[in-house]
Amino acid sequence: MQDSNEGVVLYIVATPIGNLDDMSARAIEVLKRVDLIAAEDTRHSKRLLQHFAVNTQLTSHHDFSSAAEVQKLLDHLASGKSLALISDAGTPLISDPGYQLVSAARSLGVEVLPIPGPSAVIAALSVAGIACDRFRFEGFLPAKSTQRLKRLQALAAESATLVFYESPHRIAASLADFVSVFGADEQRQLFVARELTKKFESHCLGSVAQVADWAEGDTNNTRGEFVLVLSGASVQDAAEQEAGMQRAQEIARLLRADLSLKRAVALAAEIAGVRKNALYALMLQEAD
Ligand code: SAM
Repeated sequence: MQDSNEGVVLYIVATPIGNLDDMSARAIEVLKRVDLIAAEDTRHSKRLLQHFAVNTQLTSHHDFSSAAEVQKLLDHLASGKSLALISDAGTPLISDPGYQLVSAARSLGVEVLPIPGPSAVIAALSVAGIACDRFRFEGFLPAKSTQRLKRLQALAAESATLVFYESPHRIAASLADFVSVFGADEQRQLFVARELTKKFESHCLGSVAQVADWAEGDTNNTRGEFVLVLSGASVQDAAEQEAGMQRAQEIARLLRADLSLKRAVALAAEIAGVRKNALYALMLQEAD
C-alpha cells in the first residue's frame, strides 16, 4: 500500500494502555490498510487486532530482533509496501522497541508517520497536578538498588519534573530509594499513577514519605503498572543540596583514611546534614 500522494510509509501506531476504548479510529483504519504490522508480541497483539477486526498480516519486532530481522522489514518497505509498528501498549519507542527500525527507515528516505494516542507518561503528567511545562522522562530506573540510588542522586538537582516507569516487582524498593534521596525535602511532591485507564486505577499525591507510606499500607497499591512523577528541585534547594553533598564527600574522603567506607559515610552525612544512602552511592562511584 502506498499513501495517496507520498511514497511508502512506516506508521508508528499508538495503542491503548489499558482501556480498549482509547484506540483511535485512525489507528484502526491504518492498521487495516497497511500491508504488514510489526508487533512486539504477536500473540498479545493478535487479541487486540481481533477485537477491532483488523486482519492484516502480523510479524514480530522486539528489542532482541537481529539485524537480519530488521533488514527484512526494511526490504519490505523498500519493495514499496507499507508497514505499521505497534507495541504491547501505548506509544512504540517510548520505553519500547522501534528506535533502530525508525532510524534505519529514515536513513533510507522512508517517510515515518505517527498515529498518536495513549502513552502512560503523558497520561500520568496530565493528571498529576505537578508542573509539567518542563519534564524529564527517565524511563525505567536501574534494577539494582546501588545503581538506582546513583541515578536518583544524579537527578537530585534537576529542576524539571521527573517521570519514571516502574514495574510491580520493584515499586516498593524504588520508593524506599526515593525516600533515601528525596525524603528530607517536604516540599518535593511525588505522584504515583497506578493502572491508568484500567479497572483498578488509583493515584496518590503527596510528599515522598507519604507516598511510600501509601504503598506500604496496602499490598494492592504495589500491584500493576506504575508511573512516578516527581516535582523538580527548586533552584535554591538544588544549589544547597549540591553544596552540602560536596562538603559531605570531602569530609568522607578525609575520614576514609582511618575508617571503613560505611563509617566514614555515616559520620560525614551527619556532619554535613545530607542523606546517608545518597552519599554512600556517590562514594561507591568514586571507589569504582
Ligand atoms: N510504550 C508505553 C507507553 O507509551 O506508555 C510504555 C511501555 S513500557 C514497556 C511499560 C511501562 O509503562 C509499565 O511498566 C509502566 O511503568 C508504564 N505503563 C504502561 N501502561 C500503564 C498503565 N496503564 N498505568 C500505569 N503505567 C503504565
